[in-house]
Amino acid sequence: PWLYPERKNSTGVNMNVQSQWNELSAVYSSFLGRQWQAAPVIGGRHLEGTAHDVRCPYARSRVVGRAQFASAEQARQALGALEAAWPLWNATAVDTRAGILERLGDLLEQHRAELMALCTLEAGKSLQDGIDEVREAVDFCRYYAHQARLKLGREVLVGPTGERNELFHEGRGVFVCISPWNFPLAIYLGQITAALVAGNTVLAKPAEQTGLIAARALELMFEAGLPPDVIALLPGEGAELGRVLCRDRRVAGVCLTGSTDTARLINLQLAEREGAIPVLIAETGGQNAMIVDSTALPEQVVKDALSSAFTSTGQRCSALRVLYVQRDVAGRVIELLKGAMAELKIGPTHLRESDIGPVIDEEAQRELLSHIERLKAQGRLIAEARLPEGLDGTFVAPVAFEIGGIHELEKEHFGPVLHVVRYDAADLEKVVDAINATGFGLTLGVHSRNEETARRIEARARVGNLYVNRNQIGAVVGVQPFGGCGLSGTGPKAGGPGYLLRFANERTTSVNT
Ligand code: GLU
Repeated sequence: PWLYPERKNSTGVNMNVQSQWNELSAVYSSFLGRQWQAAPVIGGRHLEGTAHDVRCPYARSRVVGRAQFASAEQARQALGALEAAWPLWNATAVDTRAGILERLGDLLEQHRAELMALCTLEAGKSLQDGIDEVREAVDFCRYYAHQARLKLGREVLVGPTGERNELFHEGRGVFVCISPWNFPLAIYLGQITAALVAGNTVLAKPAEQTGLIAARALELMFEAGLPPDVIALLPGEGAELGRVLCRDRRVAGVCLTGSTDTARLINLQLAEREGAIPVLIAETGGQNAMIVDSTALPEQVVKDALSSAFTSTGQRCSALRVLYVQRDVAGRVIELLKGAMAELKIGPTHLRESDIGPVIDEEAQRELLSHIERLKAQGRLIAEARLPEGLDGTFVAPVAFEIGGIHELEKEHFGPVLHVVRYDAADLEKVVDAINATGFGLTLGVHSRNEETARRIEARARVGNLYVNRNQIGAVVGVQPFGGCGLSGTGPKAGGPGYLLRFANERTTSVNT
């Protein structure tokens, strides 16, 4: 039932659930009954906060732990401590910082079963998603460690001046890392490890839905040798803490993965505050399309469209939302799509047979169901997957609708809703223009056996990640740097060679020898 192909991580360990399940399942299951805790942490000390029960998205009656949310006062206190710790951390050798990341990567692999259990219980991830999540987190640690050694050292620039010129990098200061619930381990650690290894101290503000995973990962960071004073963890509500953090002049930069609206708000708050101009690295939403022409293989198209639209219950910013199919082959593709959707298994995600789990919470479920009801009322339904009886979670059945064009979608619907549009061959360029006109520019899929068509689309489309004849999710760290343009983000790409440098200040020293 798995949507993903076999994958290996950067050390060549096969992280695929099918081949690893026998070894993993007993350990994994032993964690399912466990309770976890999260609390604000400053300087390695756990503080009191406002306690909240954390409920499991696939079984809402089940409480999996308690998260204590941080206060505005604790946010200010954390900034003070991180500012004080910065000079020493910044002066620490890159090699030492990189070594901590590598040890963290090893620890994440050792604790894979527990972290997977947390991903399923707190974020409602499928087992395959849990495996992929840990793998990506490990890859980020190792890749950024490698990049730091490669890029952050001193470089002598030889030229006509006759002086000794050196270029080097250092941290900017205190970085605020605001991470999302949909990749509660990988993106959370990707941001933090990049900021740390570049020489910044880090205030980590995980999504309010996934504080437990964040807290457990922090323990592993300390176990890997991270000095307690260079990071603070503030679980809690984004708007309140964000307002305090982004108005504080001690913040040198903010790294956000979240909505476009949040990025705008942060930008505004940063611009209005006093002091230096801070950096904002934002990876935001998408309105992602796939374009299928008449030369494509319909079976492959359907497999890739389904995986792109419904893996992670559609809760990826890379996920496919609008499938453009050339009119001549649309009938065939839609017929296959209906058949494939009838096969999808929805259910509690700690079970190996479930391919599709719940959405994150009631608010997300409500928003999606109201969009689905609206389109159903307009008579646009193509297919809806079967939702088993008796589920006690925030489930939304994967669904496909036919619409007239991407312009009809007024916003991103972050869940398992696929929209299908038929287009005429002569309108290919207009299709690309309509996709560009949304202003988003994250992923785009192309299915065509005509290379020239793919090249034409590549040249015209304004997107960060283009995928040809495959699915359009699951960018692999280091080889498929990920991130968009326009409304989808500022860059640089996560898991790419330019990422660390944005977290760093460039310095030049010229000596008259
Ligand atoms: N990097 C993920 C992917 O390629 C998406 C990240 C996100 O949803 O924020 O599917």
